[in-house]
Amino acid sequence: MRSIFLPVFTLKSKKTSDPGWKETNHKRKNINNLDLISKDIKFPPEPPSKVLLQKIIHGFSQAQIPSCIEEGGCAICGILWAQSQLLPIIDYKEKLHLLSDNGRIVTRKERKKQSDPISVIPGPILNIQSNVICTECAQSLQKDKPPNLALANGLWIGDVPPVLQNLTLAEQLLIARVRHNRCVVRVSSGMHKMRANAVMFANPTPKIY
Ligand SMILES: [Zn+2]
Repeated sequence: MRSIFLPVFTLKSKKTSDPGWKETNHKRKNINNLDLISKDIKFPPEPPSKVLLQKIIHGFSQAQIPSCIEEGGCAICGILWAQSQLLPIIDYKEKLHLLSDNGRIVTRKERKKQSDPISVIPGPILNIQSNVICTECAQSLQKDKPPNLALANGLWIGDVPPVLQNLTLAEQLLIARVRHNRCVVRVSSGMHKMRANAVMFANPTPKIY
């Protein structure tokens, strides 16, 4: 469940506190007024030329190629990105030591029965089903820093079992470990504001007497 969080500010105070506001606003009005930019614009305008049409169609086609639409998961952070923004992980093989658990228990091997020992998965903490990484993770590795959203930062949850994939909202609420509660009100200006603190209950909630 997501909370609506919008910034609350008053436009009046911004106008008065910023001395350059009037000037900026005046310039913006002038930009929007096409008559002031060029008085030679004729109405109605000429139909687009063949070259312009070709440019528009080419641009549209380039934006619709599969690599710009298809998504893939980053092996380091697990976030979905467009294929065009993913890089092969093999190019960053020497930097993968940054993604080790450093003695912390982040991962856990699957146990088939209760008597099986609890052990971690050796090696760097990665999404092993992916062999590509996103540009943000690649930039962090180039600076010799583990990415903030890396699975190695305690965000690893392992493979999601098929029965828990593609759940409806109601099913997600039923299996959630924590239940969120919040209060959002609409103020007179049409904006929303948070009126009460967010409250979280463990799910299932223990019996309260
Ligand atoms: Zn990533």
